[in-house]
Amino acid sequence: MSVLVVEDHGFQRRMALRLLADIGCGECLDAATGEDAMRLLMARPSPVHVLIVDLDMPGMDGVQFISAIAQAGRAGALIIASALEPALQHTVENMARTYGVRVLGSVQKPLTTTKLRDILSTLAAEADPISAAEQGSITAEALRQGLDNDEFVAYFQPQVTVNNGRVVTVEALARWRRADGEMVWPSQFIPALEQAGLIERLTLTMLDQACAWRARWASEGLPLRVAVNVSMLGLTAADAADHFQAVADRHGVAPNQIVLELTESAVMQEAATALGALARLRLKGFGLSIDDFGTGYSSLSQLSQIPFTELKIDQTFVTGAQRNPRRRAVVEASLELARKLGLSTVGEGVESAAEWQMLAELDCTYAQGYLIGRPVPGEELPAVVNAWRRPEA
Ligand code: C2E
Ligand code: MG
Ligand code: MG
Repeated sequence: MSVLVVEDHGFQRRMALRLLADIGCGECLDAATGEDAMRLLMARPSPVHVLIVDLDMPGMDGVQFISAIAQAGRAGALIIASALEPALQHTVENMARTYGVRVLGSVQKPLTTTKLRDILSTLAAEADPISAAEQGSITAEALRQGLDNDEFVAYFQPQVTVNNGRVVTVEALARWRRADGEMVWPSQFIPALEQAGLIERLTLTMLDQACAWRARWASEGLPLRVAVNVSMLGLTAADAADHFQAVADRHGVAPNQIVLELTESAVMQEAATALGALARLRLKGFGLSIDDFGTGYSSLSQLSQIPFTELKIDQTFVTGAQRNPRRRAVVEASLELARKLGLSTVGEGVESAAEWQMLAELDCTYAQGYLIGRPVPGEELPAVVNAWRRPEA
């Protein structure tokens, strides 16, 4: 692995290099200024694997340096090393992600072997981002064929009542198993389906699979509600609500056993039609959840317009909130708002017992995340439900 340390302070720079050598870094490079680092990176045939960047530097500061290498397409994975306040580090992390840079996180100075080893270990754990070539192969025609051939399958992830640890709902998450065996993730195909005008077909096949599994689990003694993701961009047909109801009826599933998690990834074109469809879905008894609350378009104005029954706090606020006062404040305020509006709440991205405890203290209704279980195919779900034990208080 190759690592470049960009740090103006001589002692700290040498320290970082020594720690990196200790943990077995293959090629350790350093630069004392952003300008030097820029020159070094531009002269190499390939980017370095990891950049460790100080923010406060004379001349070109860390923020300018990160913007410049990101725009030049020379950024490997990024670690921000700084003694400045965490809120500032997070802003820079978000800026880098917006540029498409893979951010491993921030470390508070002084660096130690443990801090470096922890943060570098996420490099191996995270999946590789998609190559541009793969992205380019997702054409409208390929998507249409995939839908025609039933290549989109629902995986299921449990949602658990925080105060008693019981699994009550499972969320259906789409996976695309292409004919050549390749698995494609939602972040790659959802925007493409939306653009191609095919997203409602995905919604209906996910609803169909979720209802089929719900009926089968219930017959095996495991009654669960199902949650299905619905892109508001797909709610363009005046009779969308009737299509949803027809699917539920076909499987004998009552709409009050179904929660529709609504996401809006762009400004709605036909807002009136979508609002009408949502009002009718609610009338029929479907639960309506505002997904990814606090991000993008998922916000206060929607809460005031749409008859939601549930609020899902986005994982970017939940994960790590126990260590980050700003994230925790967003979680607290969202829960307070939901309580005032009489909505149930789901905290997503619960990865550790500490996050679980925080949601318990703050009286969040449901929790979802890798701590409880990862998304799995329907036949594996009962085993995940049985294996789950809530953390000791
Ligand atoms: P979402 O609805 O907010 O779903 C939660 C995402 O977070 C899922 O990613 C899930 O695998 C992941 N996740 C769950 N627990 C954890 C955790 O503890 N830590 C972390 N880091 N991640 C966790 P996935 O399956 O990749 O789906 C991504 C998004 O794609 C979904 O976000 C949803 O917005 C969209 N999506 C998935 N399936 C469908 C679908 O059938 N229709 C539509 N319209 N959108 C879908
Ligand atoms: Mg969701
Ligand atoms: Mg989410």
